[in-house]
Amino acid sequence: MSSPEAKFDNALSNLKKESYRITEPRKALLKLLIDSSHPKSADDLHSELGEKSYDLVTVYRNLETFEQAGIVNRMPTESGKSLYELNEAQHHYHHIICRKCHRAEKLDHCEVEKLELLAKNLGYSEVTHVLELYGVCEDCR
Ligand SMILES: [Zn+2]
Ligand SMILES: [Zn+2]
Repeated sequence: MSSPEAKFDNALSNLKKESYRITEPRKALLKLLIDSSHPKSADDLHSELGEKSYDLVTVYRNLETFEQAGIVNRMPTESGKSLYELNEAQHHYHHIICRKCHRAEKLDHCEVEKLELLAKNLGYSEVTHVLELYGVCEDCR
């Protein structure tokens, strides 16, 4: 695990590499994403930015920029709302997402890699997968 400072510097250098400008709103949003222990919606991030907040449209635009720069992962959910989290690429995992409150938790395991192997055995290359699980969390029952 790298430190929050290292993650921040790393994300900024990714932005620079892609020729995106480093603005105060982007820095504030990035810090919040680094401090977040679980994926959050743009609405959550917007309200957590509080006093430093910019309008929701700006938050969305910046998240889009982060996604394009490979800093953030966007997870579409069943409700049509997306959740965002810092992209810590080295580690592969999935999420279980609550249908009611949209909280998402890491499932630190992947069985799908076995299926990928089957696909590779059929002669496919560049095999990837997208998988999110949905349920109703303890708090929402
Ligand atoms: Zn819930
Ligand atoms: Zn997987």
